[in-house]
Amino acid sequence: MIRAELVVRNLREVVTLREGPRPRVGDAMRELSIVDRGAVAVDRGRVAWVGAERALRSAVRLRAGGGVHDGAGGVLLPGWVDAHTHVLFAGNRAFELPLKVAGVSYAEIAARGGGLYATVRATRSATDAELLDSAARRVRAMRASGTTALEVKSGYALDHAGELRLLRLIPRLARRTGLPLVPTYLGAHAVAPEFRGRPDAYVDAVVRRTLPAVSRAGLARFCDVFCEPGFFTVRQSERILRAAARLGLGLKVHADEFVLSGGARLAARLGAQSADHLLAAAPDDRERLAAAGVTAVLLPVTAFALGGARRAPAREMVDAGVPVALGSDCSPNSWVESMPVVLAQAVHGGRMTPAEAITAATVNAAHASGLEGAGTVAVGRSADFAVYPVGSATEIGYRFDVRPTAVYRQGKSVSSA
Ligand code: FE
Repeated sequence: MIRAELVVRNLREVVTLREGPRPRVGDAMRELSIVDRGAVAVDRGRVAWVGAERALRSAVRLRAGGGVHDGAGGVLLPGWVDAHTHVLFAGNRAFELPLKVAGVSYAEIAARGGGLYATVRATRSATDAELLDSAARRVRAMRASGTTALEVKSGYALDHAGELRLLRLIPRLARRTGLPLVPTYLGAHAVAPEFRGRPDAYVDAVVRRTLPAVSRAGLARFCDVFCEPGFFTVRQSERILRAAARLGLGLKVHADEFVLSGGARLAARLGAQSADHLLAAAPDDRERLAAAGVTAVLLPVTAFALGGARRAPAREMVDAGVPVALGSDCSPNSWVESMPVVLAQAVHGGRMTPAEAITAATVNAAHASGLEGAGTVAVGRSADFAVYPVGSATEIGYRFDVRPTAVYRQGKSVSSA
């Protein structure tokens, strides 16, 4: 008999994703390992049992003081893993919307000293408490939408001390919100204003000073680079990423977001963990990513926030056999906290099926974030899941912002935003 401190029952479906390879590619992205009319038992923060509800009584005994959650005929899904966020920033950029709406591009706004540089100014002048408070509000809103793990990038300080400060705040943000946060050093988000017109000197500073300090202090799992004209060339990006790899960091690339920058090619050549964005990636880049096993992290809300002229190439990437993951890209440029909204955009704009989108936002996003084992409801894994008021998992991605009625992290209810 299995002992449990929590049982969740009366569920139309339990989506487990417990079987199959990680990451998943091609047809395997549609295999969700669903238990119809299932139940889940949790003990000591971990999943202790998953099965059909009719087998629950003979398999599981509730501990004294344990609780039963009635799922009200809804669907239980693993917590979302958000594979790409810039959630740690100060201020907002509502003021630049008239420019965006008038068709001034992201790169042009940045070149005029606004956009990302406006956020850099706000972030540099914010106190630790202000940064933590605003980021914690966003992460709690993500959690209320069913997200139970996320990647968090630095990149809004750009100077040495400021980037180290942001990375040091990430574990504090994790403690405050109770979610695992994967820290990524993105000093090469843009050339620091002090190095304006001298990008190679800035790359020098990143490679010789900040990266070694990040590595020594163990502040990041990954290093990311914004490889795009006006930001960092392929040559500069490669220099930073090779230095990061030598220090033992995993690699990520902001690749081919605005134009075909060569970022996806670079990610494939270096065997990066992920290539992200890819709105302008070339068809043959898909084969390169698939062959190298690089996960494509797609950010469909950003495609929308950039004006909607391009869409996340999700269908094409899945069909080419690339492991596809999803992220919110939550930032002052594309401020979205809800992964169900991201999934709906991936389905409607990116032409994924709901099942593919669910896989992309759970096990594949976990792989892209170095969180193997997350994104599933499986015995022995952390009990991170959410219950949705829908009759079938396919309604996620069909409806635009389905909110969970309950979210559990390590078997504890964390529903309240
Ligand atoms: Fe990004």
